[in-house]
Amino acid sequence: MELEKELELLKKEIERHNYLYYVLQEPEISDEDYDMLVKKAEKIERKLGIDTITFGSSLSSSFKKVAHTVPMLSLSNSYNFDELRKFDERVKKVSNSSYVAEAKLDGFSISLIYSDGVLTKALTRGDGNIGEDVTSNVYEIENVPKKINKQGNLEVRGEILMSIKSFNKLNSISEKKFANPRNAAAGTIRQLDSNKVKERNLECFVYQMVGKHNQIDSLNLLKELGFTVSEEVRECKSIDEVIDFIEQLKEKKSQLPYQIDGVVVKVNSYVDQNRLGLTNKSPRWAIAFKYPGVQVVTKVEDVVFQIGRTGIVTPVAHLEPVLLDGSTISRATLHNVNEIRRKDIRKGDYVFLEKGGDVIPKVVKVIESRRSEVEEIVVPEECPSCKSLLEEDGAFLVCKNDHCEAQLKKKLALFVSKEGMNIEGFGPAISSKFFDLGIIKYPEDIYNIRAEDIKGIEGFGDKAISNLLNSIERSKKNDYSKLLFSLGIRHLGKYSAKSLSRISIDSLLNMSKEEIANIDGIGEKTAESVVAFFSNKENSDRISCLRELGLNFDVKERKGSLKGQTFLITGALSKPRDEIKREIELNGGSMLSNVSKRLDYLIVGEKPGSKYGKALKLAEKGIELKILNEKELYSLINSGHL
Ligand SMILES: [Zn+2]
Repeated sequence: MELEKELELLKKEIERHNYLYYVLQEPEISDEDYDMLVKKAEKIERKLGIDTITFGSSLSSSFKKVAHTVPMLSLSNSYNFDELRKFDERVKKVSNSSYVAEAKLDGFSISLIYSDGVLTKALTRGDGNIGEDVTSNVYEIENVPKKINKQGNLEVRGEILMSIKSFNKLNSISEKKFANPRNAAAGTIRQLDSNKVKERNLECFVYQMVGKHNQIDSLNLLKELGFTVSEEVRECKSIDEVIDFIEQLKEKKSQLPYQIDGVVVKVNSYVDQNRLGLTNKSPRWAIAFKYPGVQVVTKVEDVVFQIGRTGIVTPVAHLEPVLLDGSTISRATLHNVNEIRRKDIRKGDYVFLEKGGDVIPKVVKVIESRRSEVEEIVVPEECPSCKSLLEEDGAFLVCKNDHCEAQLKKKLALFVSKEGMNIEGFGPAISSKFFDLGIIKYPEDIYNIRAEDIKGIEGFGDKAISNLLNSIERSKKNDYSKLLFSLGIRHLGKYSAKSLSRISIDSLLNMSKEEIANIDGIGEKTAESVVAFFSNKENSDRISCLRELGLNFDVKERKGSLKGQTFLITGALSKPRDEIKREIELNGGSMLSNVSKRLDYLIVGEKPGSKYGKALKLAEKGIELKILNEKELYSLINSGHL
């Protein structure tokens, strides 16, 4: 193939993966494979004498681009101690400083900018020079201090992480699986629904203060200011001490709550850091040591296609059980059909399996030299459960039959689960059993179970029956928001269900996509599936049925001076916007995300945006809408009137 042609194809492929990774948050390939594609493209560019462009920075997104005051460079990597010692030799020519060795947290880099003690901006790394403004999402991360006791400007850098526990939980409840905690953290920050950030328990660990201190003092100062700093840090007098730290951490790392993929070694003295300077890509005063990934070899015995709650079909490799990083593995998700094709996985193949910490294992690649008797994997055309034809939806195969048994079972399992209606003694095994016995099919059937229906079923003596019926009855009193979540509407998480529950069910049944997207905390995608759900006759019938059965659809009475009023903020106020939002909500008001006829008050701060103009226009048309400044808002909160 001509080089130009090949380059063009490679670029297209890279763009596609950027889109999958950054926008859809559904990467199809590993980071290493992605790096290889980029390297290949760069090599061709060099051959052709074209300036190397930075791949991955040209992605489109809805976030504002902001230049970094000091570039966020990536570190050069080392994979063995020889390389570390060479680094030490280079440093020692210039510096006598100690080193600081820190666990290399496997997350998503972030820059936090404070002015006069207030968090004003959070930027992604982007291409190192220009990042994206993700402040509103980072604002939802609990351990990022929003206010610190420090005047002047301060820039702090760190890593946004998802703990292995939160990651496994997220992957167990969401149907589209993230490949690892880092992708999950990055995907969460780079999406537009900040409620998801709260829901997914992200955390931020900082490791650098852009300023004048030395590294170890910076870390201590950051701790004092209220930031979270990794405990896995040591000041080392020599490179031997660094190596000792690396060895120790290697033993410990599988027990840490987070994934780490190596150790970062930095020259402690900032003066010496400056003296050592930068290459055009990375600092000379730091290096990353990477631990090799834990890999084992096993055999793919079968590939089974599983169907999820919303109909997505996922291929799962059934493996010859193998011990990997302390646990026995016999299953690995293959994510989607493209992944099988790309890796050319066949039944009977020997494969490398990789895993870090508690994270779900992944099939890295097939060992082609060991291939003998293999069978190609047949991608099903029909749903393995209901036999209806599968449809393609992006990279995924989907069963769109609403009556598909496998989906109904999973929906019931969600409904009775702890996260759902929390019906004690009614786990997924029991809901599945009752389903098979024809006792229940849809959520409303649960409330029609009579003692005689389940009498005689193993495990259901008189006592167990009365306990179960009691907890079913009790669940009717659950909050309306819990009920909405339990219905299993696609994309509707626990927190977005809470936002939705501010609106009565009668309104919800008739609202348009635009109106629903206008509720604070509901994204476009969610709005779309909410409307699709409620406009389905079967679902609206189900709602009436659940209402008749006495389930709780009451909108929580809001107390406070702003009860029943809607608000929207534009422009800068004296406090961070989210703080003011919370105050409004605490006092019974609710937030809208756009100017509309439903809006009662627009709060206008400094440099208001386009919402202000829109509101003025509506007001001119005679629509009752009040425009307040911050002071007037507080007098409204405090006295209940203007
Ligand atoms: Zn089906």
